[in-house]
Amino acid sequence: MPKSQTPAFGSGPRVLLRQIREVMASDAPVQARLDQVVKSIARLMVTEVCSVYLLRSTGEMELFATQGLNPEAVHRTRLREGEGLVGEVVRTAAPIALSDAPAHASFSYRPETGEDPYSAFLGVPLLRGGRVVGVLVVQNQTSRVYAEDEVEDLQTIAMVLAEVVAGIEAAIDTLGEVEVSPHRPERLKGQRFADGLAIGRAVMHDPPIAIAHIVADDPVAEEERLEDGLLRLRAQIDNLLSVSHLSGPSIEVLETYRMFADDRGWVRSLEEAVRGGLSAEAAVDRARTQHRARFAAAKDPYIRERLHDLEDLANRLLRVLAGEVTTHRALPEDAVLVARNLGPADLLEYPAGSLKGLLLEEGSAASHAALVARALEIPCVGRLSGVRDHLSEGDIVIVDGETSEAHLRPRPDVIEAARSRLLVRETLRADIAGLRDKPAVTRDGTRITLLTNAGLISDLAALDATGADGIGLFRTEFQFMVQDRLPGLEAQADLYSQILDAADNRPVTFRTLDIGGDKVVSFLQEGREENPALGRRSIRLGLDRPPLLRLQIRALLRGARGRELRVMFPLIASIDEFTQAKGLVDAECDWARRRGWALPSMLRIGAMIEAPALLWHLDALLPQTDFVSVGTNDLMQYMFAADRTNPTVADRYDTLSPPFLSALARIQEACAASGTPVSVCGEMAGRPLEAFALVALGYQRLSAPAAGVGLVRRMILSLDLEKARKLFLPLLGRTSGSVRGEVESLARKLNLAL
Ligand code: PEP
Ligand code: MG
Repeated sequence: MPKSQTPAFGSGPRVLLRQIREVMASDAPVQARLDQVVKSIARLMVTEVCSVYLLRSTGEMELFATQGLNPEAVHRTRLREGEGLVGEVVRTAAPIALSDAPAHASFSYRPETGEDPYSAFLGVPLLRGGRVVGVLVVQNQTSRVYAEDEVEDLQTIAMVLAEVVAGIEAAIDTLGEVEVSPHRPERLKGQRFADGLAIGRAVMHDPPIAIAHIVADDPVAEEERLEDGLLRLRAQIDNLLSVSHLSGPSIEVLETYRMFADDRGWVRSLEEAVRGGLSAEAAVDRARTQHRARFAAAKDPYIRERLHDLEDLANRLLRVLAGEVTTHRALPEDAVLVARNLGPADLLEYPAGSLKGLLLEEGSAASHAALVARALEIPCVGRLSGVRDHLSEGDIVIVDGETSEAHLRPRPDVIEAARSRLLVRETLRADIAGLRDKPAVTRDGTRITLLTNAGLISDLAALDATGADGIGLFRTEFQFMVQDRLPGLEAQADLYSQILDAADNRPVTFRTLDIGGDKVVSFLQEGREENPALGRRSIRLGLDRPPLLRLQIRALLRGARGRELRVMFPLIASIDEFTQAKGLVDAECDWARRRGWALPSMLRIGAMIEAPALLWHLDALLPQTDFVSVGTNDLMQYMFAADRTNPTVADRYDTLSPPFLSALARIQEACAASGTPVSVCGEMAGRPLEAFALVALGYQRLSAPAAGVGLVRRMILSLDLEKARKLFLPLLGRTSGSVRGEVESLARKLNLAL
């Protein structure tokens, strides 16, 4: 095959880039401008054909302008994704260069275009916001091979073209309904992570930097700027890596960043783009946009993760180039945070009450970020594929936790409908608030103790607001997660004392540190683990580092100062672990007694049932504990061997499944037989339908996130328990993977207020 005989642009596409911008900025009609652009490209690239296809809202690529093909085909030739070579460029979001196009399997002959004599084909995508919004094609009669730099150059041109086409979007619309940039209303379906409804403005967790100049005047100076930026980027990451007490992004993410910052392929593509005439920022943006488009097509979660890392790195480099040193910024009043995923501490880093809603691309409903969102009552929809690519900073969004949807740039009528629903929700809230002081008693007289889960000082207000009977789970690790050093004895004791004060004689169950898994506390965790959820997390860490656990127990004794104290240990997997942990409490009580501290008026020690192994050792455990609490979030993940934070397995298993319900029944029966108080403190206790199942199984103590307490109370007040039990228990014998549908029908039949 002959090598490229005609270099596209002797000194890069700068002249052409400028021409395109001038033509597109002129007053001529839009069609005339597009016609002129394809003409210029064909002339300067020495190609017989140059065509621009743009995306119609029907999803088809329509020929909008051509030099060389039959002009009659303009606005007539339309190709679907995957159809023809143009469709193939759309599908792969990557350039396609062929010396013998008709021989390619995807070649689709369109007689109206008159393209039979053209052999060589080079098509590149027009990308905006990570989506393919058009295709730019050049063709030659001879079966020539397009050189790598020509492909690069055409990509650069496509990038500028995508920008200018977006700039004349309104005018383009007069040529037909064309989707050239993500400014239209969109609705994405995701998964509910936290109930609620919010209307607000998108704020990117990692805000993108606006690119002011696309074309550089002096490519040599620009290349130096880029090199300097890359050096500073590497130095910045090295610096972060050398700091031993990291907060925020984990060390692993930073190591990956560092690796990518050295990646020759990435650096080379940036350098080439700058040499081709782009500004350093535009070069970074181009590489990022290309990666985004590929990310959209990638199926492998590992690759998607890595591509996202690369995107984050690009954002960081853009910041470096812009000379930005701080990431703090003012939030709008109605901020809806948009992120790929968040660690629980990330969310806490935003000022309290500053977020109206949260949209996540990934994550899972059982992750701690989702849990924190629920605790803070921030409506959250997760697993919204590509949401960040479809949104710009400041776009209006609706977070709909009821339907698990996100509306991006909704139409006014959709906003209006959401506003009315917000009003209805307010009324329901008022109804629930009206029931606040009613004890949760079923219609046939069974009293259910309704507790709430907490972990932050700000949760304490919820105790009075919900009328909960107490705190069934206080997650002490949150205090550790929002700091970058170990809180001392006084700081810990102070928090525990404040909680007991606020509870005002209502019971509070403090759970000792539950770190590990997705709850990262960098100053306490050494090294990385292959499987953090199965690793040295939770009570295992406390038992391996007794001073840590003892300090916490001491702080609990000090905080209680003679009051009633309830302590429980998380993730107990064997009786020995419980005995050892209890031994530390005894030792601390001795220590405190020797120093004359006031010991708790009553001390209750319990275990969380989260590891399935305990189910076969309940007869040994229960006589040793004062109470137990079932952590259904973890029990689910370990029973079904499905990581609670992994979105790809999040949908597979249901809490309302016969095996899981049978496990819960087994625990409840063993506790009833031994007279051990038992509660459920996983998230399911806060969802009325699941709470109904728990009560039907015989559980009489539920600890729910604050947002669930009122709803569960309302359900209980409408429940005829004995009748429900009779109809519910046979469902445990079903062989299906889930009995959710059956439980729902039963709830309807019983007229439950859900
Ligand atoms: C649970 O696992 O159900 C639980 C309540 O604990 P956490 O969600 O904090 O792991
Ligand atoms: Mg747990």
